[in-house]
Amino acid sequence: MNPDPDSGATAPAVPRIIARAEHSISRKNISPNALRVLYRLRDGGHQAFLVGGCLRDLLLGVEPKDFDVATSARPEEVKRLFRNCRLIGRRFRLAHVFYGQEIIEVATFRAASAPSQGEEPEEDPDILPEVGASEDNGVEPPLPPPDEGEEDEDTDRVLDEGGRILRDNTYGTVEEDVWRRDFTCNALYYNIEDFSLWDYVGAMDDIQARRLRLIGDAEQRYREDPVRMLRAARFEAKLGFTIDGETESKIGPLRHLLTEVPTARLFDETLKLFLTGHGARSLEVLRRRELLGVLYPSVDRYLRKHPGSLVEQLLKAGLENTDARVASGKTVTPTFLFTLLLYGPIAEYIERQPPQKWDDVGTILDGCDHAVRAAQERVQIPKRFALGLREMFALQPRLEHPRGRRALRLLEQSRFRAAFDLLLLRAQIGMAPPEVAQWWTRLQQVGEEERGQMADALEQRGGSGRREGGGGRPRRRRRRARPAGGE
Ligand code: ATP
Ligand code: MG
Repeated sequence: MNPDPDSGATAPAVPRIIARAEHSISRKNISPNALRVLYRLRDGGHQAFLVGGCLRDLLLGVEPKDFDVATSARPEEVKRLFRNCRLIGRRFRLAHVFYGQEIIEVATFRAASAPSQGEEPEEDPDILPEVGASEDNGVEPPLPPPDEGEEDEDTDRVLDEGGRILRDNTYGTVEEDVWRRDFTCNALYYNIEDFSLWDYVGAMDDIQARRLRLIGDAEQRYREDPVRMLRAARFEAKLGFTIDGETESKIGPLRHLLTEVPTARLFDETLKLFLTGHGARSLEVLRRRELLGVLYPSVDRYLRKHPGSLVEQLLKAGLENTDARVASGKTVTPTFLFTLLLYGPIAEYIERQPPQKWDDVGTILDGCDHAVRAAQERVQIPKRFALGLREMFALQPRLEHPRGRRALRLLEQSRFRAAFDLLLLRAQIGMAPPEVAQWWTRLQQVGEEERGQMADALEQRGGSGRREGGGGRPRRRRRRARPAGGE
C-alpha cells in the first residue's frame, strides 16, 4: 500500500532510527528464544527484526504476551534454517518456530496492507490459541505438526468487493512491511544488527502519549480487516490508550462489518479480549463502543434489558476473578468464560418456562443449547467448550441441593471443580445460598471420614442446605436465582 499523504499517519520512507543508547529496550527483557531466532536469521544472511506488540509492551513496562519476528527471509528459507519450524496459513503464510511451550512467529516482510501475524485463526477450532487458555494444567506443549498442504508461493493479493483482504502473500521490504501493520504503536522494528529501533510512523511518540492510531486511512484499514476494531478496543482495555480521531470515529459507522468476519476468528479474538488479564475492562470498552452487540447480540440485549442485574454482577465479578487468576499465573478456561457470557441468555430462556420446571436438568440443558446456538451465529464456540458449559450448568441444582452420601460422588466428576467455582461465584453475589457453598468448600478440605459424617448430617437434616438460612429472601427471588436465573 502506498501511504496516502492526506490521511491518517503518514511517514517518510526513511525511518527515524533510535540508537540502542537512546531507548530502554534491553535484551535482558527479550525472550531468549526470540533472540535465538533473530540471530540465526541474521547469520543466515537475512534482515531480522522484532516487531509489533512486544516492543510496545516493553516500552510501557508491560510483560509481552509473545515475541513476533519480521524478516527478509521467505517462509521456505525460514523453514530451512530451523528444524523446529512449521509453516502455517494459506492466505498469509507464516513460520512458527517451536521451543517447548513458546512459539516464535516469523513473518516475511509484506508489501501490502495485509492482516498479519496473529490474524489467522487456528484451522482446527478445537486447538487452543496461544493465550494460556488451557482447559487444564499440564497441557502438553504443542509439537510442530506437519506443514499444511503444499502450495505455490503465491504472490497475489485478493480483495473482496468491500475491500476486505482475502489473501495476501506479496513479499516486500521492511519499508513496505510497515504499512500493513494496524496501529502506529504496533509498527516499531528492533534491529538485531545493532539493537536500534526503526520508527516509520511516529510510533514512539504515540506510545509515549498512549495514543492508538491506525496507520493510513482509518476507514480503508477497517474495511480491509474489521477485526482491527476489536483490536482497538482490546488495546484500549489492556493498555489504557486513548483511541485517536478517525480511528475512533469510524468505529460507529463500520462496526457492522464485523458480522462478515469468520466466526472462528471472532472466537480467537474473544479469548484475547477476555482471557488475557483485562477481561473486565474489555467488557466495559466493548459495551461503551457498542461492539458487544455486534459480537454477542443476545448478551448485549440481556444486559441492556436488565441494568444492574445479578447476572451483570456475576459477569463482572467472574471476569474480575479471571483477571486475578491470569495475574497470578493460574490457568483460565474458555468454558468458564462462555458460562459467564451466556448466563443471561440462558437464564432468560429458563425463566420463560413455567417456574416448576426451572430446576429441571432438561430445561437447563435446553437453555444452554438455545443460548449457544444463538451465540454461534457470530462467534464460534468449539464443541468441547459448549459441552463443558452444559455440564457446569447441569450440576448447579445438584450442588445447590446436595443429597446425603450421593453428593460425595459429585466430587469425582471431571467438571466438579469448574461447577463448584460457578457455585462460589453465584453465592458471592447472592444467587445461591452461601451456606451451601461453605458446605462444599469444607467437604473438599476434610478427610474421607468427616466427609461421610457431613453427608450423613445433611441427610438427617432432610437433604440440602437450601432450607437453611437464606436471609429471609422472598421465595420467588430465591427461585429466580436458581439455577441459572437471577435477574
Ligand atoms: P498482543 O500480542 O498483546 O495481543 P500484538 O500487537 O503483538 O498484541 P499480535 O496479534 O501478536 O498483536 O500481532 C503482532 C503484530 O502483527 C501486531 O503488533 C501488528 O503489527 C500486526 N498485526 C496483527 N494483527 C493485525 C491486523 N489485523 N492488521 C494489521 N496488522 C496486524
Ligand atoms: Mg503479539
